[in-house]
Amino acid sequence: MSLDWIQPAERIQTLPTYVFARLDELKAQAREQGQDLIDLGMGNPDGSTPPEVVEAAIRALRNPENHGYPPFAGTPSFRRAITDWYRRRYGVLLNPDNEVLPLLGSKEGLAHLAMAYVNPGDLVLAPSPAYPAHFRGPILAGGKVHSLVLKAEKNWLIDLAGIPDAIAEQTKILYFNYPSNPTAATAPREFFQDIVAFARKYEIILVHDLCYADLAFDGYQPTSLLEIPGAKNIGVEFHTLSKTYNMAGWRVGFVVGNSQIIKGLTTLKTNVDYGLFSALQVAGETALQLSDKYLQQVQERYRTRRDFLIQGLAELGWTVPKTRATMYLWAPCPTGIRSTEFALDVLNKTGVVITPGNAFGIGGEGYVRISLIHDCDRLAQVIQRLKQAGIRYPSKVAVS
Ligand SMILES: *Cc1c(COP(=O)(O)O)cnc(C)c1O
Repeated sequence: MSLDWIQPAERIQTLPTYVFARLDELKAQAREQGQDLIDLGMGNPDGSTPPEVVEAAIRALRNPENHGYPPFAGTPSFRRAITDWYRRRYGVLLNPDNEVLPLLGSKEGLAHLAMAYVNPGDLVLAPSPAYPAHFRGPILAGGKVHSLVLKAEKNWLIDLAGIPDAIAEQTKILYFNYPSNPTAATAPREFFQDIVAFARKYEIILVHDLCYADLAFDGYQPTSLLEIPGAKNIGVEFHTLSKTYNMAGWRVGFVVGNSQIIKGLTTLKTNVDYGLFSALQVAGETALQLSDKYLQQVQERYRTRRDFLIQGLAELGWTVPKTRATMYLWAPCPTGIRSTEFALDVLNKTGVVITPGNAFGIGGEGYVRISLIHDCDRLAQVIQRLKQAGIRYPSKVAVS
């Protein structure tokens, strides 16, 4: 019997193809053939969750009060922990009753926000390259995404002045993310001021993803959107515990900012999920209260790997810009070689998995993303394999 009539909705069919899927197939094949893959493709931290957080979660699990449905908008205690963290970290005051919402990981919230605010045909601005949920969420919601193509020579910053008036006037939401995945770019405070002014002028909802709030090095401190005067009138900011606290599998994130925007997202979510398991909210609260010493350790881990890998790649003649934040290197492909072709060549010849830049949108073509998710011993093997493989590397940073 033919089941051709079982077709997913157009919103699924209009999604751009997922480059990761092809890579996953090839990874599986290589593994079957017994190849020792070194996976630097994912954004999945390799560390374990801090023991204090695990212990707090175990205690919370044993408490039957946590076993029922959680309150829709999060437990008062976790919401308070989030607003306390914001005050400590950024000097920003938030109302725990209506300016914060715990999420089942930030990806869920980023995608659902589009469902809550985008009507079919509405225009959404998202950078290219970008974290996939920033443009796939709006596409799933039926929106039209206008890509803001980023350039190396502009330090991967959005060129606000280059956005035509006609586009800006129609725009409902602008998604952005600094420190950035995948480019690892950081944005100066003035950029945040400019984007707030831009969003206010054109009445655009600003959505900032500050996933890498704590993974910054060399004294650099990422800016929160909400530090900018006026930002809370028009914007929200997403956070996750996945990266900083090695909690990717726990699914704990949150959004803060404009209460009206958060209210719409809450309404949508009350129709889709029941919120975050209370025991996980206890774990999240504990994580946010860890001392700065923990943060310094995590930062040190990624900084060491960054320096080690950049040094090793330089020995191959592959010059990769030094990053001030995130857990990625964003590296140019050799001139004239496309991202996918290069990543597959590296995989075939070395068993090292890196992500083609075009997986994050056309603006990532000509680059690959390398995740710093193995220790230096393993990274030394990466360098060794790359040296022996006879691959052509770019000797200079390609300016597209
Ligand atoms: C990893 C990542 C996320 C996803 O975080 P979760 O809370 O695990 O869903 C969101 N945004 C960016 C930019 C990321 O790199």
